[in-house]
Amino acid sequence: MGPDCLFCRIVAGEIPATIVRETDTTLAFRDISPKAPVHVLVIPKEHYADIATLGQGDPALAGELLAAAAVVAEDEGLLGDGYRLMFNTGAYGGQEVFHVHAHVLGGAPLGPMIC
Ligand code: 5GP
Repeated sequence: MGPDCLFCRIVAGEIPATIVRETDTTLAFRDISPKAPVHVLVIPKEHYADIATLGQGDPALAGELLAAAAVVAEDEGLLGDGYRLMFNTGAYGGQEVFHVHAHVLGGAPLGPMIC
């Protein structure tokens, strides 16, 4: 993607982030404005705008993203009490950064939904 994508710039090391996990194809880093005690964003290094585009364009990479998110949840100690895995998709879905990212949220009861 181009220089305007915030998360591509994090992948490139141009913008700092607190990275918690990295694979050849994925990167996980702490959300700059956490909405829960644990709030990690997991992204593919390759640019896709949203989960629908990724899921249709590269299902294998979508699977790697889900696997990476599961490892992050385990590493963050979330498996016992549970956690939320969330993809905001498109403007009405509340997506603000158009580089697909899984939100891994946990560490406290989250209630039925985050709006
Ligand atoms: P969205 O609303 O697109 O699903 O979520 C975007 C998320 O990216 C938000 O939770 C927001 O706090 C986070 N975010 C925005 N800018 C930055 C940044 O520069 N660094 C990090 N680590 N997170 C960011």
